[in-house]
Amino acid sequence: MLALARLSAAQDPRPYRPSFDVVDYTLTIDLPDTGATIHANALLSVTRTGTSDALVLDLLDLTVDRVTVDGRAVAFTRQPETLTIPLPRRGSGSHYKISIDYGGVVTDGLIARSDSAGRWTYFGDNWPNRARHWIPSVDHPSDKATVTWRVRAPAGRTVVANGKLVSTHSLRDGNGVQRVESVWRESRRIPVYLMVIAAAPLEQFDLGDTDCGLAELQRCVPQSVYTAPEQRSFMPGPFARAGEIVQLFSNLVGKFPYEKLSHLQSSTRFGGMENASAIFYSDEGFRRRSMTDEVVAHETAHQWFGDAVTERDWPHLWLSEGFATYFAALWTRAARGDSAFHQQMARVREAVLTDTVSVPKRPVIDTIETNLLALLNRNSYEKGGFVLHMLRGQVGERAFFDAIHGYYAKHRHATAVTDDLRAEMERASQQSLGWFFDQWLRRPGYPEVSATWSYDAGAHEVVIGVTQSGRFGAFQFPVTVAALDSTGALHRATLRMTATTGTTQQLRIPLATVPAGVVLDPDVELLAALKVVHE
Ligand SMILES: [Zn+2]
Repeated sequence: MLALARLSAAQDPRPYRPSFDVVDYTLTIDLPDTGATIHANALLSVTRTGTSDALVLDLLDLTVDRVTVDGRAVAFTRQPETLTIPLPRRGSGSHYKISIDYGGVVTDGLIARSDSAGRWTYFGDNWPNRARHWIPSVDHPSDKATVTWRVRAPAGRTVVANGKLVSTHSLRDGNGVQRVESVWRESRRIPVYLMVIAAAPLEQFDLGDTDCGLAELQRCVPQSVYTAPEQRSFMPGPFARAGEIVQLFSNLVGKFPYEKLSHLQSSTRFGGMENASAIFYSDEGFRRRSMTDEVVAHETAHQWFGDAVTERDWPHLWLSEGFATYFAALWTRAARGDSAFHQQMARVREAVLTDTVSVPKRPVIDTIETNLLALLNRNSYEKGGFVLHMLRGQVGERAFFDAIHGYYAKHRHATAVTDDLRAEMERASQQSLGWFFDQWLRRPGYPEVSATWSYDAGAHEVVIGVTQSGRFGAFQFPVTVAALDSTGALHRATLRMTATTGTTQQLRIPLATVPAGVVLDPDVELLAALKVVHE
């Protein structure tokens, strides 16, 4: 039936390369003593889900020497950006083992460079689709897979990757030079953009077994920090409360999803990159000792949001960055109290209101932008984070975290789109929330709210009129209005603004004497530009 077929196409969990599902990567990489030339093998386990006769993998730059399918050499096609592998026709659900020998000079994705002391270091840095510079892959967040890393590195390098350390042993390469082979295994499905290795002269600072009873795969979460030798004395520094951060999110969301959590000083181009179970931080924050626990909380929150529950396609990036922004603020609330939390949300709101690049022009769910790096904007981060804050206000604390638990449990180790979150929020709150998601996430901008006030001495009331402008269309929202008395106390009332522009809604707050002032949204609950005028 056409209607059913169209429905299932719309819900295809792998919109990017729909006929095949890569379920596992085993990646063997030989790293050089110096320079960026790698020799590698990728062994992919693939399941057929559609009718195509060829698997198309993303791969840039590197030379492919040989491809086998189930042990038999096949004639592959190499194009500048892809590797096409013919697969024998079998029924849906059948499996293939594909082995690819490849290598060459890596120019991106795996960052090879010598550090300030002249030591060669190697760090994966894939976001958003730069894994294809060094990993033949279906390089899209919709196709998640488990991964085994087999890294052969020169002696004197510490190798860290996703998952659990399986083994390390010494071997000699073809020229008789000693190498150390480290094997790491990530047993949970992750997107390719989070598959990384680090090989550098790193020193481990052990944070111990944290969060016992709060881990999905074992009893506790072993955490450690890896730094350059020069920065070891900075430890534990911003990681002193890493256990408490994992504990908070495990309680708010669900058990920690991976085998361990390592934090690494690296050469990522981002301030921090949330690679599953091995977070890479910019080395500047270590060298300058300027790093704070806020970035640790943000990247740690991604282990649940982005890593375990991955946005199925790029327009839903806010499900990763908006969540990390908001849960970092919830860490601030837990660690430093309500007033620090309100200050942080006020800074988040200010970042939205002062943006000229994306917020006034594009919705958070941006289906038009094709430059993926441009999606790292204030819509995905700050506006997405503030929308979660308002959603919590809309449905209430209990329903909000009930829905967050449900959303996480349903989609962990898989992918989600915004409607999956809406469905859980509607279930938990018994509210219809289509209007909320549409006005905040599928339209640009925010409301502009202005209030005028006067004092009615006869009635002993503050008379307040509130209006929204129509710059971004009409929004529907509650707004708290407060009159400030001479002792500094706030007298609050809430006004439910309807989705109309230009009309003024009025309310009265009883007060014995003329107020010292009127404040809109004193508790930082509303994403709006706010203005108050005394008549
Ligand atoms: Zn982030």
